Amino acid sequence: MQQWDVIVIGAGAAGLFSAIEAAKRGRKTLVLDNGKRIGRKILMSGGGRCNFTNIYASPANFLSQNPHFCKSALSRYTQWDFIALVQQYGIAYHEKTLGQLFCDDSAKDIVDMLQQECDKAGVSIALQQDIQNVSFANGVYTVTTPQLSRSCQSLVVASGGLSLPNLGATAYGFQLAEQFGLNVLPVRAALVPLTWQPADKAVFEEISGVSLPVTAEANDVVFPEDMLFTHRGLSGPAILQISSFWQPGDELIINLSPQQDLNEFLLEQQQKHPEQELKTILSRLLPKRLVEKLLELNVFQNQAIKALHAKSIQRLADSLTHYVFKPNGTEGYRTAEVTLGGVDTNELSSKTMEAKKQPGLYFVGEVVDVTGWLGGYNFQWAWASGWVAGQYC
Ligand SMILES: Cc1cc2nc3c(=O)[nH]c(=O)nc-3n(C[C@H](O)[C@H](O)[C@H](O)COP(=O)(O)OP(=O)(O)OC[C@H]3O[C@@H](n4cnc5c(N)ncnc54)[C@H](O)[C@@H]3O)c2cc1C
Repeated sequence: MQQWDVIVIGAGAAGLFSAIEAAKRGRKTLVLDNGKRIGRKILMSGGGRCNFTNIYASPANFLSQNPHFCKSALSRYTQWDFIALVQQYGIAYHEKTLGQLFCDDSAKDIVDMLQQECDKAGVSIALQQDIQNVSFANGVYTVTTPQLSRSCQSLVVASGGLSLPNLGATAYGFQLAEQFGLNVLPVRAALVPLTWQPADKAVFEEISGVSLPVTAEANDVVFPEDMLFTHRGLSGPAILQISSFWQPGDELIINLSPQQDLNEFLLEQQQKHPEQELKTILSRLLPKRLVEKLLELNVFQNQAIKALHAKSIQRLADSLTHYVFKPNGTEGYRTAEVTLGGVDTNELSSKTMEAKKQPGLYFVGEVVDVTGWLGGYNFQWAWASGWVAGQYC
C-alpha cells in the first residue's frame, strides 16, 4: 500500500491549489483525478481564456446558506495574491468588464502555471483514477481505486460540483461527506440558461440570436447585463447571474430599457417626431426583431406616436421595463457553470476547511456550499479555499 501524508481528490483549481500549498510545507502529497489531464474546467472556462479572478471579489459576491463562511478564506488568499502569481509567471491578462480578469492568450497558461507550481513543490499527480472507496481507521484514510489502495493522514476532497458530467463531474464528494456523517445541502444547477415554457418557445424562438442590455430580476435580486434570446430560452450574462436566485415557478422581470428612462424617451420622441410610428421609435432603442415580436404580441399597437396620451405612454414604458417571463426551468448541469448547495459549511472550519467532526478530512472548492456570481468569483473561491486547506492538511 502506498503511503502519503496528503491525498487530494480532484485535479481542478481547488485541488491543485491545496496540493501545492501542502507540498510546500513538506507534506508528501498526491492528487488523484478521474480525467486524462489536470484542470479540465480551467481549460474550457471563460471561452478558453479563463476568467481567473475578479478584482472586486468580496464575500458579497457569493451565495451560501452561511454568507459569513467564505470571509476567512477570501481574506487570507485574495484576488491580489492570485494576480501576483499570474504576474510572476509573466501571463498576459486583461480586464474584460466589471473587474473580470481573463488571460490574453489561453486558459492553458493558467493550467501550465499550476503544473509548474506542482512540479516545484513536489506534488505527485495520478490521472485516470476513479475513486471508488474511502475508509478511515486509526487516524488513517485508505483511498481505493480499481488500480491501487493508498493511505494518507489528510484527505482533501476537491471533486467539484455536478456541472458538465461529460467532463468527469461526479457526486462523489457529496457521497463522501455523507459517508462521514456530514450534512449535504440540496444541490441545483446555477449560472445556467433558463428554458421557455412550450407556448413561449413557439413565440420567441424566432428571435433567437437577439441580444440586448437589460436588468434581470428575480426574488428582489437585480443584475444589469446583456440578455440573449436562444432557441431554448434565455441566456447571456444577466440570465446566468439571475439563474442562481431564480427558483422553478418564479417570475423573471426584465427591464428592456435599463440605460434610458423609457417614459422620458417616448415623450421626447413624441415632441420631436409626432408623425412617426411607435415601431420606428422603439427600434431606435431596442433590436428591430424584438420590436416586431412585441408588436406581434400586442404589447403595443403600431400607430403614430402623436395619438398616444401621456398615460398610454407611461403604461407602455411600464410594460417594457417590467416585462415578465415565466421560465419553465433551467438547462441543467449539461450547460450550468456551477452547482449551488453542497457540503454544509456548518460542518467545516472556515479557518482550515477541515470537517469539525472528522479530523483530517477537508472539503474545498465547489463541492462546498459556497457559490460565486459569474465573473471569476468561482475560481477565486477555489484558489482561496484550496490555499487555506493547504496550510493545515
Ligand atoms: C463551461 C464553464 C466555464 C466556467 N468559466 C468560469 C470562469 O471563467 N471563471 C470562474 O471563476 N469560474 C468558471 N467556471 C466555474 C469553475 O470552473 C468552477 O467553479 C471551478 O472549476 C471549481 O473548481 P473545483 O476545483 O472545486 O472543481 P473542478 O474544477 O470541477 O475539479 C474537480 C475535479 O475532480 C474530478 N473528480 C470528480 N469526481 C471524481 C472521482 N470520483 N474520482 C476522481 N476524480 C473526480 C473531476 O473530474 C475534476 O477534474 C466555469 C465552469 C464551467 C462549467
